[in-house]
Amino acid sequence: MTCDRDTLVRWDREHLWHPFTQMQGFLTEDLLIITRGEGSFLFDQEGNRYLDGVSSLWANLHGHRRPELDQALRSQLEQVAHSTLLGLAHPPAILLARRLAQLAPAGLTRVFFSDDGSTAVEVALKLAFQYWQNLGNREKRRFLKLENGYHGDTLGAVAVGGIPLFHEIYHPLLFDTLSAPAPYCYRCPYREDCREQCLEELEAQVATHHRELAAVILEPVMQGAAGMIPQPPGYLARVREVTRRHRVLLIADEVAVGFGRTGRMFACQHEQVSPDLMCLAKGITGGYLPLAATLASDEIYRAFLGEYQEFKTFFHGHTYTGNPLAAAVGLASLDIFEKERLIEALVPKIELLTRLLAGMAGHPHVGDIRQRGLMVGIELVRDRGSREPWPPAQRIGHRVILAARRLGAILRPLGDVIVLMPPLSISPAELEDLARITYEAIDRGTASD
Ligand SMILES: *Cc1c(COP(=O)(O)O)cnc(C)c1O
Repeated sequence: MTCDRDTLVRWDREHLWHPFTQMQGFLTEDLLIITRGEGSFLFDQEGNRYLDGVSSLWANLHGHRRPELDQALRSQLEQVAHSTLLGLAHPPAILLARRLAQLAPAGLTRVFFSDDGSTAVEVALKLAFQYWQNLGNREKRRFLKLENGYHGDTLGAVAVGGIPLFHEIYHPLLFDTLSAPAPYCYRCPYREDCREQCLEELEAQVATHHRELAAVILEPVMQGAAGMIPQPPGYLARVREVTRRHRVLLIADEVAVGFGRTGRMFACQHEQVSPDLMCLAKGITGGYLPLAATLASDEIYRAFLGEYQEFKTFFHGHTYTGNPLAAAVGLASLDIFEKERLIEALVPKIELLTRLLAGMAGHPHVGDIRQRGLMVGIELVRDRGSREPWPPAQRIGHRVILAARRLGAILRPLGDVIVLMPPLSISPAELEDLARITYEAIDRGTASD
């Protein structure tokens, strides 16, 4: 920590392989080294401050160095940093499991902890698969996924992923899945005459294949990594209805949309949907520590009960599953939701953001603005009329976020979609700054084209 900047930069370039990063170009760019955070801001070594416009990868909820969360972590540190849940328990895991079950959509009473979004998804996939096996229904072993879906980077999660750029190369390693088109209204081939063909295709697949389908997996309300692509109202409820009718489980991956992000505690609650399995991570500790949970219905849980020698056990668990430090911070984060009536308090902030975004809509390179709560994608296009994108080599999204950085905000794009996902605690004034910087950065980043 006492190293000077030049040494850190050199050692970073010698040793650190950054995730989701083409290192060749990265090595020639200025390296931003974050040394401190406070509220909605991150700071570098020189004391420059940046609005954390993507909540440190969609995770932070209550700001950095939030006193209540810091204190919860310190207090737990004085008890024990880690003890396993394999055969033992500890108070933070017990209490957090109970709180999550109380907050979750009705019926999700069982909580299986793991470490991050990908592992929460792995757990959901294995639970869904083994559920049917334990019931003696050996045929139901396949998964139906959505195009452009993203569920994490471990191989099971990649198998149910639908983003060719990330997932295609691993195809030979993956189990076979069924895939249905996902709604993407801005680029919908039926744009002129939408009769919900995206739903019809999914419904047809479930109807045809239900005997071999263990589960449908999707990101409810908004596909995140695909470029913040929202589903039309009613979509999720219809998927729930069709999966229930055909006895296919529904896995809701709320890793990105959970914990208030879309304006409800959980996105499924927009449509009063109870999935059979629900994956949580990112915001679960307010963005402090890695932790994840897969919530399951009682019915699924009961299918795993039996005498030991029947081997219905769920043989799965990670070393740091349900880590006490992370769980203690998770509890403190839920306390903040309760104390501040956070979901209600978000309403005016979400409306302010809607108004600020409307002010960007006239920009000649802003094609589409998609918002659900404090989760936003701004799709940039070369030509607004034809919706034509730029060639990928131009890296317009990347140029925009570098411009934003010079203006004092940290963003991370998804291709040419600029993502805004500030901490839920962002103040109205900071939100206005973020919108102003974003607009200016879009203007600069797209200017020379
Ligand atoms: C980020 C994300 C994941 C993966 O979570 P990690 O913690 O990065 O493993 C899974 N599903 C969705 C919807 C996500 O946005």
